Amino acid sequence: MRLEGKAALVTAAGQGIGRASALALAAEGAQVWATDLNPRLLDGYEGIDGVRAVQLDVLDKDAIHKVISAMPAVDVLFNCAGYVHSGTVLQATDEEWNFALNLNVRSQYWSIQAAVPRMLRSGGGSVINMASVCSSIKGLPNRFIYGMTKAAVIGLTKSVAADYVADGIRCNAICPGTVDTPSLADRINVNADPEAARKAFIARQPMGRLATAEEIAPLVVYLASDESAFVTGQAYCVDGGITI
Ligand code: NAD
Repeated sequence: MRLEGKAALVTAAGQGIGRASALALAAEGAQVWATDLNPRLLDGYEGIDGVRAVQLDVLDKDAIHKVISAMPAVDVLFNCAGYVHSGTVLQATDEEWNFALNLNVRSQYWSIQAAVPRMLRSGGGSVINMASVCSSIKGLPNRFIYGMTKAAVIGLTKSVAADYVADGIRCNAICPGTVDTPSLADRINVNADPEAARKAFIARQPMGRLATAEEIAPLVVYLASDESAFVTGQAYCVDGGITI
């Protein structure tokens, strides 16, 4: 197994990409701390080998430090938590801007700040940050705040990678296209015509379909594993060709 002996923390592991990734990491032999704000979403981990389900709100800096310091080691940190705000610059509010920066960016800064000293002590580790193709890679309509935060994630990723490149700590970002997850369903269902909204999401994907969360998880496993030992500071698109 590719991740035998590694301890991994995954945020927002209750559903969607975080859950698919936590399961994939555990299937490769990692000891996984699967965390989420919503404890009910963690119930499904009961009985799954190698997974410890822990409630964690990534907007709570002290709670992040508490969970990380309780881990025996932190070999892998997958910062998956994030929220998609809809709207243009004219529709954005300061409250949305602050919430998105806190959840999508500041939480990653906090968890990395908590994990890096542990990684330095143990001789290295892999940080994986959730970005998006909607970022510095591609502008998408109606995603002003979201695209801004995910561009910041890519900058944060490269900065961390540069600072610890000689210390065995790697830091990479993942940039999915549109992935069929519960929160995407929420974004679809708020529309007056959900069926048309779903078709529009599919239409912007050149393959004519959405990704599944299980199609993103293998990249998380690769970046967590020693197979990617020479890879750092990169933003990897898994996007069904949306950025061709
Ligand atoms: P999702 O949005 O369906 O689920 C998000 C999870 O985050 C939920 O389990 C929720 O309880 C948890 N969460 C919310 N606030 C939290 C907090 N403060 N602390 C801890 N957990 C919290 O999952 P998803 O669609 O797979 O998205 C996961 C990540 O992937 C996000 O960062 C998102 O921006 C990114 N992403 C998603 C897509 C997509 O199309 N779904 C595309 C690109 C990037």
